[in-house]
Amino acid sequence: MIQENILKVSNKLYKRVVFMKWSDEAKKELSKVPFFVRKKVKIKVEDLAKELNSEKVLPFHLAEAKNRFLNNMEKEIKGFSLEACFGEKNCKNAIKASPDFLNKIESLLLKKDILSFLKKNSKDKIKFHQEFRVSVSFCPNSCSRPQISDIGLIAASRPVVTDEPCIKCMSCVKGCVERAVFFKNGSLVIDYEKCLFCNECIKRCPAKTIIEEKKGFRILAGGKLGRHPRLGKDLGEIYTENEVLKIIDSAVDFMLSQKKGAKRFSDIFNDEIFESLKNRV
Ligand code: SF4
Ligand code: SF4
Ligand code: SF4
Repeated sequence: MIQENILKVSNKLYKRVVFMKWSDEAKKELSKVPFFVRKKVKIKVEDLAKELNSEKVLPFHLAEAKNRFLNNMEKEIKGFSLEACFGEKNCKNAIKASPDFLNKIESLLLKKDILSFLKKNSKDKIKFHQEFRVSVSFCPNSCSRPQISDIGLIAASRPVVTDEPCIKCMSCVKGCVERAVFFKNGSLVIDYEKCLFCNECIKRCPAKTIIEEKKGFRILAGGKLGRHPRLGKDLGEIYTENEVLKIIDSAVDFMLSQKKGAKRFSDIFNDEIFESLKNRV
């Protein structure tokens, strides 16, 4: 039985998780597909297998999907890609964002009309790896790989110690994988150098001794794979959703302002752009 779970991101874009079995041969074939299209290909192949009433993906489905999809790759390109982990609706680790947050990002990216810019400035056919990539993870586990996107977002919830009496249940200490919360000389301490703002200690504290001080997203900018890979650089703050939108807006503008050629944002990203994004809000 195929289990399907579709998380609607907007009328045009769907983050989708389809649970299907794959034969070993089909898995092997899929592993040969370039990483930057593998996820899209996987979804297309599973769609096709489902359409053909198969409960298992076989090499035949990959070959057929290749005909239908890879040969028409250019038609699938939107100029940007917005991916999110499935966490917000289905994962206990998720730090919730506003219900329309992903829609707002998508609307912003559509308005920028990145595709026209790419078409105008590229000599060859546009390829997926030229798209502006935004990747969102709703906790520091980072399942959507925000570290290797032009803009990577990681949901964050900053804890703070209040004056409410602590009952010394130790639940926060036991729950912190980073060992960032502990007692020192009888006082509760949060080490913000180690803290990844995962929300666990806040959720666990029954006495409101630890509460949420700020919620939003950490932003990583300029991440990429390819010949010269680089992890996105952390802008260093927790940003509200509106601030995130402003920073994405600026990042796209940097990309669109290129006078010649159409390099990806992560290829033009440098210290000057980093500082400029940091000062955007
Ligand atoms: S990144 Fe976190 S919230 Fe998202 S799916 Fe992974 S564990 Fe769940
Ligand atoms: S927010 Fe997460 S990482 Fe930070 S102290 Fe609490 S449990 Fe530890
Ligand atoms: S979870 Fe709250 S009450 Fe329990 S030890 Fe931590 S701060 Fe104290």
